Amino acid sequence: MGQRSGREEGSKKLELALSKTMEAEAKEQNNEEEAEEPKAKDQRLTSVFGVADLKNEPVGLYNIGRSCCLNSLLQVFLMNTHFTGILRRITVPLRAAQKRKNVPYQMLLLLEEMQCGKRKAVSPIAFACCLSVYRVKPFVQHDAAQLFLTLWNLTKKQMKKLELVEELSDLYIICVQEHLACQKCSFETKRNSSMLTLPLPVLDSNSCMLKTLEDCLQSFFHPEELTDHNMCFCEQCGRKTPFLQSMKLVHLPQTLTIHLQRFSFEKSAYIHKLSHHLPFPQNLDFRAVLTENQCQADDSEKAAWQYELFAVVAHSGSISCGHYCAYIRSLTECKWYCFNDSEVCQVSWDDVKCTYGHSNLHWGETAYLLFYMKKHPQLPYVGVSG
Ligand code: ZN
Repeated sequence: MGQRSGREEGSKKLELALSKTMEAEAKEQNNEEEAEEPKAKDQRLTSVFGVADLKNEPVGLYNIGRSCCLNSLLQVFLMNTHFTGILRRITVPLRAAQKRKNVPYQMLLLLEEMQCGKRKAVSPIAFACCLSVYRVKPFVQHDAAQLFLTLWNLTKKQMKKLELVEELSDLYIICVQEHLACQKCSFETKRNSSMLTLPLPVLDSNSCMLKTLEDCLQSFFHPEELTDHNMCFCEQCGRKTPFLQSMKLVHLPQTLTIHLQRFSFEKSAYIHKLSHHLPFPQNLDFRAVLTENQCQADDSEKAAWQYELFAVVAHSGSISCGHYCAYIRSLTECKWYCFNDSEVCQVSWDDVKCTYGHSNLHWGETAYLLFYMKKHPQLPYVGVSG
């Protein structure tokens, strides 16, 4: 019987997400010297790509061989007008070879092709080739949470303009504060960190199925007692003592990405999927979900914590043999669409609810990534210190 709790798994994934983000940031520092490009290029870009915003007909992406995961994520990025608003302002690389391996540029080309309004679906082959330069293999089934992180990091790393990098971070980055408090004295440490997704466990610390998305959020922010072999060394007490570990929410971005940890590593030999019923709301107010103690934010920050569901990346099948599709609510038309590779059709909220999952249907479709959009956009986030 596996003893690893959902909570521990959550922390592990969180560390992974953080280290990946930091890794990308470190690499980005090395690229700074190439950051300046001639300004004339930007102007040319506006003239080439300026018109396409007028058309918003959803367009499919052909499956070029196990590319359903990539296709679903591309649709989620490109249907987000806040994201495309940034993408349209990138610096176009000068040479053809640079263009071929520039992720944001290739994404922009794909967007342009999709929005020229002539075809029902377009091929993401050039984009997939571009990704292969960065060891993202084409024709293999990816994990959507991993691939989302990779795409985001590559896009951010290759955006040359600092202002765009900042805007991209503002759009997606979640800020939290991790607390560790000695239970024998008053010693406490705090650490600010950032995440691209909230990795929510779908099981509680006793491996019981959580019943709603709100329960998953409460479980994620629930303080954990570190006792027995998990005790930490307290500087003030001079010995190992029990600690209370907690995480406080500091800032939520315009586009909030939630990763439902439905792939369980509990039995180390193989990964299985947790398909149980887990409803998520169309409207999510974090002030109603978290307690005062679980937040480290002022009233104006918290006032903006009201969200509306924007997209669901759903997975059906098993880990080794599965399929992804994306349900996205068009921000311009306010209608739900299902993007299933080259097939795009309008759907209802009831269709989206089919991704809640069902314990008896292990092969059935389940939501895996949820994207929520802030209802009332906020001024750029300044951040906190200490
Ligand atoms: Zn102490």
